[in-house]
Amino acid sequence: MDLLEYQGKQLFARHGLRVSSGEEVESVEDAVAVADRVGYPVVVKAQVLIGGRGKAGGVKLAADAGETREHAANILGMNIGGHTVHRLWVEHASDIASEYYAAVLLDRSAKRPLVMFSTEGGVDIEEVAERTPEKLVRSHVDALEGLGREQALQIARDGGVDEDVVEGVADALLALYDVWIGEDATLAEINPLIVTPEREVRALDAKVSLDGNALFRHPENADLSDPENEDPIERRARENGVQYVALDGDIGILGNGAGLVMSTLDVVSLAGGSPANFLDAGGGSDAKKVEQAIGLILSNPNVKAVLVNIFGGITRGEEVAGGLIAAFNELSPSVPFVVRLDGTNADQGRALLDDAALAGVHTAGSMNEAAELVVALAKDAG
Ligand code: GDP
Ligand code: MN
Repeated sequence: MDLLEYQGKQLFARHGLRVSSGEEVESVEDAVAVADRVGYPVVVKAQVLIGGRGKAGGVKLAADAGETREHAANILGMNIGGHTVHRLWVEHASDIASEYYAAVLLDRSAKRPLVMFSTEGGVDIEEVAERTPEKLVRSHVDALEGLGREQALQIARDGGVDEDVVEGVADALLALYDVWIGEDATLAEINPLIVTPEREVRALDAKVSLDGNALFRHPENADLSDPENEDPIERRARENGVQYVALDGDIGILGNGAGLVMSTLDVVSLAGGSPANFLDAGGGSDAKKVEQAIGLILSNPNVKAVLVNIFGGITRGEEVAGGLIAAFNELSPSVPFVVRLDGTNADQGRALLDDAALAGVHTAGSMNEAAELVVALAKDAG
């Protein structure tokens, strides 16, 4: 769950990281009102879930109310990398002496938290990592001990920060680590972390991703997800308690059991196709449930063919088939379906499906056969 800059800054502030005072607004009038309150000069910033806003013209300094009005009007409605700007963050502008980079994330291969730091901030950090890797300090943290003051000071020194801000940078790193651990974040990144001419260390930007599966531990963070940026089908699925993840292909996938569905995605990819979604219908043969799942899949306009991959366990094949037939009759889908039914009483289930002779519904004997058929059908339709 990615947060907008201003939401990330709220979390930063909660953990003692310095940020500039500002407010989030949705109109030009409010932008000017906030600018008057926080004091000029201000910086007007597009709030979208994508980086590089500065380069795209979505971050502008304003010296007075007139300039604030002009920039706010230009940035609201702007399209930045496919994201339309509906919100602005207006904060008191900072004077910048240095721009640094700091991040905490999980290094999966090392199975440890990783703190990254560089004095080459404000720019694309991937470029720094590639061109001058020696300027990017990477320091693993003992997850049980946490980040200690000594290590934070060492990172700042290894990064080569000016001696008079070693303490301030270490404080910022400790606070950032505290955000990462305390909020169950998967990423907490500051670019740039600035040093002001008064030698104060402050976060000028915030990129925070929270672990959605840990949200139950942070009820105060539940309203941070931005419904405007959530996939509408994923939202509907979540509201209905269905496990659905949007993908960017054209083959709809319905299966029972997360493991089977993931294997189905792999097999479809192997057959040269591209899945449009992950959908785990769970156990049970309930026609209503199957209907709801198929409805979700078909509401994605990219879907050209659908693969239903069911392995009967406790749920028997003829029950699943009954559910599918009822759902197909109710929805009469306009795209072809391939159904692979295996497991308990699969023969009876397949016989029922064959008898029903539903238009556009094909049965397949194996998962590979089903994948090849659905890929061919999607190609024909495309
Ligand atoms: P991004 O382009 O999406 O990463 O947005 P940032 O929040 O990082 O802003 C982009 C750039 O705008 C920063 O790297 C700064 O150089 C500049 N900037 C942002 N806020 C201020 C500010 O308060 N004062 C000054 N002088 N520059 C700022
Ligand atoms: Mn930035």
